[in-house]
Amino acid sequence: MGRKVILLNKTDRSLRGAVFFCLFSVGLDKRLFHKYYYCAMDDMVTKNFSRSEFACQCGCGADQVTDELAIKLQLLRDLLGKPIKITSGVRCLGHNIDIGGSKNSSHIPKDDGKGRAVDIACDNSPFRKNVICCATEYFNRIGIHKKFIHLDTDEYKSPDVIWVY
Ligand SMILES: [Zn+2]
Ligand SMILES: [Zn+2]
Repeated sequence: MGRKVILLNKTDRSLRGAVFFCLFSVGLDKRLFHKYYYCAMDDMVTKNFSRSEFACQCGCGADQVTDELAIKLQLLRDLLGKPIKITSGVRCLGHNIDIGGSKNSSHIPKDDGKGRAVDIACDNSPFRKNVICCATEYFNRIGIHKKFIHLDTDEYKSPDVIWVY
């Protein structure tokens, strides 16, 4: 295909842990902490996507996705030639329940600790058409919602499906 995706080094988790402990011990609000923590220590997963973009929105810090998901999302971004806004990436069990996600959602990390799904913002017809056309190049599990498009690489679920919410 001639398209290149560069996976960068993982962040130093122990340093993150130390900063987390210091800030948490002075009683910083979890959500606020999450925001600044990622501003200060962001790292890129691929050329255009940072780790924080995949992070669970409850502030728990879960942010790991499979390389397959990250690479395919970057390929989609390259093909689209436009920015992609992730509206939901990894979801911990609690957050998935809070937002009414399905019980076996692919957003929930599996035994390897990694999520396999993203929802990307998409609320107009031309962009939706474009995203779906491009996404079918790389993804074989696509969910279509009025406001977003769900893409996942869940190897435990049926391939070659497109559904609506
Ligand atoms: Zn969470
Ligand atoms: Zn989703």
